[in-house]
Amino acid sequence: MSTHEPKNYHCPICSLIKGEESEHNRLSDIVYEDHQTLAFISPKWWPNNPGHVMVVTKEHYENLYLLSHTTVQRIALTVQRLALAIKEVYQCDGISTRQHNEPAGNQDLWHFHTHIFPRYHDDRLYVLHEQARYVAAEDREPYAQKLRAYFASHTS
Ligand SMILES: [Zn+2]
Repeated sequence: MSTHEPKNYHCPICSLIKGEESEHNRLSDIVYEDHQTLAFISPKWWPNNPGHVMVVTKEHYENLYLLSHTTVQRIALTVQRLALAIKEVYQCDGISTRQHNEPAGNQDLWHFHTHIFPRYHDDRLYVLHEQARYVAAEDREPYAQKLRAYFASHTS
């Protein structure tokens, strides 16, 4: 299986899972966690889809190809949970998920992750890729707070 992860890669996702904060990831971004998966507010936003969420495996796997069946199932459940939460909390018009594998598949972060985007009519998510920008932790916090509150009252 081909790998694209650089040698001695310092994985920002593994750092966050270990409880270490970095330039782009804070512990306050985390909105959901179970024994295999973690979900947090993405530090990089598209112009019309603020507060989108990333779901990751707690163990380090470079991509989808390497996940066990049980991990794929657990990820799918977490993605659905987050989609339902985002739909209710953000009151968006729809939800899109995106998952990238290998450079040709637009992957540039070497720890398996799925993006969950709140969608709005005419938001041009797939057109405005060049305008995606990192945002400050303070801008992410209100979204994280609302999703954490949702999960505190939806425990199943
Ligand atoms: Zn990792």
